[in-house]
Amino acid sequence: MHEMSIAESVLGIVEETARREGFSRVAEVRLEIGRLAAVEVEALRFCFDAVVRGSLAEGAALAIEETPGTAWCFGCNDTVSVDSRGEPCPRCGGARLQVSGGTDMRVKDLVGS
Ligand SMILES: [Zn+2]
Repeated sequence: MHEMSIAESVLGIVEETARREGFSRVAEVRLEIGRLAAVEVEALRFCFDAVVRGSLAEGAALAIEETPGTAWCFGCNDTVSVDSRGEPCPRCGGARLQVSGGTDMRVKDLVGS
């Protein structure tokens, strides 16, 4: 499953950051997920709970913040916001869009102890 490998890479970042910050436990992990990153948030939560078992992030809360998707519209000559790939420009209805943001996922912050 796609979300399982994402959860594993998140755990890798969490463990590395916790070591650097000197945390012995992680209470909360804050993630930023772009609306166009093609990540199923509910599936990711489920996988995250499974992969953190036995790690210093076991039982950690997962706070997910969705960031908006953006695309460059060749019709408007401007950046517009889009909710999914392949949808027309919300402003002019044009289809010539190039996705420019909201495709990434990153670990924003950790709350540790
Ligand atoms: Zn447009």
